[in-house]
Amino acid sequence: MATETDLIVVGAGPTGLAAAFYAGMRGLSVRLVDPLPEPGGQLVALYPEKYIYDVVGFPKIKAADLAARLVAQLDPFRPIYAMEERAQELLASPEGFSLTTDRGHTYTARAVIVTSGLGIFEPRRVGADGERELEGRGLFYAVRHPEEFRSKRVLIVGGGDSAVDWALMLKNVARVTLVHRRRTFRAHEKSVGELLEAARRGELAVKTPYALKAVRGDDWVHEATIEDLGSGTRETLPVDAVLVLAGFLTKPGPIANWGLAMEGGKIAVNTRMETSRPGVYAAGDAVTYPGKLKLIQVNFGEAATAANHAAAYVTGGKAYPGHSSDRPAPASV
Ligand SMILES: Cc1cc2nc3c(=O)[nH]c(=O)nc-3n(C[C@H](O)[C@H](O)[C@H](O)COP(=O)(O)OP(=O)(O)OC[C@H]3O[C@@H](n4cnc5c(N)ncnc54)[C@H](O)[C@@H]3O)c2cc1C
Repeated sequence: MATETDLIVVGAGPTGLAAAFYAGMRGLSVRLVDPLPEPGGQLVALYPEKYIYDVVGFPKIKAADLAARLVAQLDPFRPIYAMEERAQELLASPEGFSLTTDRGHTYTARAVIVTSGLGIFEPRRVGADGERELEGRGLFYAVRHPEEFRSKRVLIVGGGDSAVDWALMLKNVARVTLVHRRRTFRAHEKSVGELLEAARRGELAVKTPYALKAVRGDDWVHEATIEDLGSGTRETLPVDAVLVLAGFLTKPGPIANWGLAMEGGKIAVNTRMETSRPGVYAAGDAVTYPGKLKLIQVNFGEAATAANHAAAYVTGGKAYPGHSSDRPAPASV
């Protein structure tokens, strides 16, 4: 089934959310498509608990909070989110463009803005026996609802911010064991200090240098074998859930085959954020041009440029945006 909006934004990271907001200000209806479960891109997938200090107007803001504010600012324009869907093919259609997704949907629009950032995020697997088979059946690569783990025996694998921060949060609701393959952690010093102190108080178990070797279960994971990398000794723990929080890998994904002019793996754009294909704009970490900087602040500017030129393309008018301060506030602001 084909469903139409004026604009499709491919990628709901900070740039995509900002582009959708500006498109909303220009009166366009917008659909955002993203394979991740929630909007926010790198802010939410890679460093939700880290503070950002260089977004103008925010002396200090947590990445997840910045994503939440972008979503809130966009909300009044009632965007359609097609989350957990990857954009696959972009074809010409009578409406302008028709975009197919890996879920078998086809969406049409008169213009497209590509804000696919670093590309498709894939969890970094640790190569334990049974890992792939038990994915989604007790073995997860992200935490969505901490309450799902209440009173459960949870094994966390990893030594970065995500593993350490979730261990600290989940220890309050679950029985947590954290294993990490090195003796030192890559997470914030303060969080590591809290983790080791909590382990000393017996609030959770921390085992280093340990690796996850195997997970077993039928419908659901029920035990995990871990190995002491110092002595080679293995032990098997009964578990209700295993969280592999070892980071993400990124790959370019299908957009590389959309026939857009590329340079060094990035989409080449001009100063209007136009790609080589009329009606297709791009912004953010996905693009390149002379002097490009991969910064949220810069990406926001590109998003405004892309959205205003896309609006002019759709309406046949000028790209002059006017000033938001001259307009009535959007309904729920
Ligand atoms: C640890 C860390 C700290 C950082 N700190 C700062 C900082 O302090 N200040 C700063 O300015 N910048 C910082 N950055 C960089 C900043 O996060 C990025 O510049 C910004 O996230 C880029 O936004 P984006 O929306 O262009 O791309 P992304 O955030 O990468 O979002 C792209 C989105 O597109 C989606 N996507 C990809 N392919 C497809 C497809 N085929 N179909 C549909 N959707 C797709 C992805 O799933 C993703 O959600 C940091 C980055 C990291 C990793």
